[in-house]
Amino acid sequence: MRAEIIAIGTELTCGSKLDTNSQWLSRELESLGWTVTRHTTLADEMPAIVEELRAAAQRAEVVLITGGLGPTLDDLTREAMAEAFDQTLVRDPDSLRQIEAMFVARGRTMPERNQRQADRPEHAESIPNSCGTAPGVLMRVRTVKENHVCFLAAMPGVPAEMKPMFEKNVRPHLLSSGMQMSRKVIRTFGYGESDAERLLGDLTARGRNPEVGITASEAVISLWITARSKSAEQAHQMCEETEQVIREKLGEAVYGEGDAELHDVVGGLLQIRHQKMALIEGATTGGLIAMWMTESESLSSVVDQAMVMPGAWNGLKLPSSGSSAAVQASLETWARVAQDSVTGFFRAHAVDFVLLSSPFEDEKAESGVAIRRGLVAVASRTSFQTFDVSMTGNLAIFRQRAARTALNRLRLMLAQTE
Ligand code: AMP
Ligand code: MG
Repeated sequence: MRAEIIAIGTELTCGSKLDTNSQWLSRELESLGWTVTRHTTLADEMPAIVEELRAAAQRAEVVLITGGLGPTLDDLTREAMAEAFDQTLVRDPDSLRQIEAMFVARGRTMPERNQRQADRPEHAESIPNSCGTAPGVLMRVRTVKENHVCFLAAMPGVPAEMKPMFEKNVRPHLLSSGMQMSRKVIRTFGYGESDAERLLGDLTARGRNPEVGITASEAVISLWITARSKSAEQAHQMCEETEQVIREKLGEAVYGEGDAELHDVVGGLLQIRHQKMALIEGATTGGLIAMWMTESESLSSVVDQAMVMPGAWNGLKLPSSGSSAAVQASLETWARVAQDSVTGFFRAHAVDFVLLSSPFEDEKAESGVAIRRGLVAVASRTSFQTFDVSMTGNLAIFRQRAARTALNRLRLMLAQTE
């Protein structure tokens, strides 16, 4: 069962305000079993709104509209709904009384122009607004497509008015989508988006149920499993089965669920094992691991100490750029110096693991593109492993990838020695 959302307002299309209503409404609709197939954002222009309302009503069973219900002449949603579905506009006496009462409650008399907020298409219903003056509009329209009935609800653009109106007066009409939805998000690290897709095979094909979506953010690949079924139990079970398949295919790349972060997972594992770590970060991570690991008291409790060493390492100063061979050689030198330093560090401190990162260097490739290179290292009392991080482009993304690489390697080391 398909739903669409239309956000109306020139302040949205010109870039001065962000459309947050569509995101909020989509989550609500999806949780009720509706599939949201389209978001449309429109300026306050009559012909475009009319055209879009007609088209959306043909395509979807539910169309939610926000914005354009204010008292000023640029607010056109009421008029557009009437025109799109060949109805005349009538003034709703109950709405008019409610709007007047709202002004009286605020100690004001209602300006003339607010009267038009009580207008609605003749076969529509007005929805009272408990938080503002703009009533909403509910309509059911039958389109030329055989037996296709579309439910439309227009709500104010102001989120603080839209949300209670949706919950009180629109949501009850949408409870019977006929479908139940179950969703689970699996978080993975260590593959690129296209590698993950290749490994998952036809799981990510469109039109499949459960559907598997892939999103990449800050070097973490999330897999969104959405199962739909008439029974909630079955949807849940379908979701779990697909999760199992994904876990088998991606193996140890799967590190968590929902919005879990690698540092949460690593912190949790160290806590269970009563182990501690130290952080010695060069410019490659620049203190990012320390920042993440001190986001909460429980995470901080596994960090014995953290240092950021932006410049020299035990007197070793690396050049900041060079040819591929020169950069490789200096990173190898860093690895040796770091390994020596960390051996001394373990003698002096009661920690089980140390995460380290090197300074970063720019490798000048023949093509002229600079590749930023750095190393991260995971050290235990018996091992020292380094991992290469190479990337062009944004420093913040390079650091996130580097910090997550270090945390992920520690996670894998912890998993192996359970
Ligand atoms: P309106 O109902 O068109 O008078 O909208 C009133 C105000 O609500 C606008 O000035 C925006 O600040 C806000 N607003 C409208 N549409 C949205 C939207 N889709 N997401 C977030 N805020 C919105
Ligand atoms: Mg507006």
